[in-house]
Amino acid sequence: MGVHDTLLAVIGLLAGSFVGLWLFLGQALRVASAASGRFAAANLVLVASVVLTLQRSALAGPVPALAAWPVADVLGLSAFWLARGGVQALFKRPSTARRDALGLGLVALVYAGLPVGAGSVMAYFWLYSCTAAWLLSGLAADLWRATQREFGPRMAWALASPFALAALVMAGRLLGPSPDPHAGAAGDPSGTLWAFVVLALLLNGSLVVGVLTRLLLVLRHRAERDHLTQLYNRRQFDHLLAQEWARAERQGVGFCLLLLDLDHFKRVNDELGHAGGDAALRHAAGVLQAGCRGVDTLARHGGEEFALLLPATPMAGGLELAERLRQRLSSAGFVHGGRPCTLTASLGVAHSTEATDLEALCRQADQALYAAKAAGRNCVRPLPEALKPPAAS
Ligand code: GH3
Ligand code: MG
Ligand code: MG
Repeated sequence: MGVHDTLLAVIGLLAGSFVGLWLFLGQALRVASAASGRFAAANLVLVASVVLTLQRSALAGPVPALAAWPVADVLGLSAFWLARGGVQALFKRPSTARRDALGLGLVALVYAGLPVGAGSVMAYFWLYSCTAAWLLSGLAADLWRATQREFGPRMAWALASPFALAALVMAGRLLGPSPDPHAGAAGDPSGTLWAFVVLALLLNGSLVVGVLTRLLLVLRHRAERDHLTQLYNRRQFDHLLAQEWARAERQGVGFCLLLLDLDHFKRVNDELGHAGGDAALRHAAGVLQAGCRGVDTLARHGGEEFALLLPATPMAGGLELAERLRQRLSSAGFVHGGRPCTLTASLGVAHSTEATDLEALCRQADQALYAAKAAGRNCVRPLPEALKPPAAS
């Protein structure tokens, strides 16, 4: 068995394994089905492109020249187009598939206008390199944008770099030595075969990492967020609160803890039904989020109760923000099924410097909220003087 036959066997094995992997992930495990289908198709067209390209050295063979030249190149470029569409579907990014298909269609038209054969090798080289660089750099940019907010720029670069590198190699080829117009006819396909092996390993390896990243993002979102409002859930809020307590102790900068409970929410459910109550909770979450500062952490603490963490904020600042949120909520009109409904809330505010430990701080915020309810609801209260620990009063 010659080296080329061995390489061809490796290619068949690689492509078959990757197609199998993506189909298994997408169809059997139902992991990122839309993206996995595109990645499987990308492998298929890429291997078809290589097999056709290899016929260039034997134009008299069974495959017509048209398939060995323009069709082979357009198939190879379609693999990058499919991979980009897959990454966009995977990370729920806006799709550019139609626009890219239009660009690819124009490139195909240019190919159609070129004379077929080794005489056009330079034109093929330029057309393929430029189009591949464009599609691969777009793919790298999509990956970067999809991950940089959650993972930070460094990690996003690491994820996008294989595609950025592939795009650079494609563009860089234009600066290197021009291809020998007779190389194809001379019948040494090992360059094409090796290029495929490296590209297939690089792209599929990076796409697998992309799918794992997406899975991690989805799991993290489900673990940290409340399903109804998309705010942080209580578990994540408690975690962030403990972190803030430790930081405040270390740096000596106090923070405020706010607890907000919607007033007479049972009545809202009774009047609007449970679906109306759910819509009211989403509405309240939106109003509160819009009224917070970027540094504040808002969470659904449970039921119709919300919690807010205000870092590096004095008690006066906490009371001020709480009052602003109360006013915003009561004046923001909420309508469900054509029926208007006014939502009001009671708020309790506690300050970290008035509590001996985190448990005491949470208890104080709860007592402050209870005081607001006892004062008639739709108001803001700090911890009542009578309940303050002697050392702090
Ligand atoms: P108060 O002013 O004393 O807080 O009265 P309230 O009716 O708001 O308080 P209570 O704790 O008696 O009732 C809370 C209600 O909130 C009861 C519960 O059905 C409703 N609730 C809690 N979670 C949800 C939810 O996810 N969706 C809906 N629709 N209702 C919820
Ligand atoms: Mg309530
Ligand atoms: Mg409640």
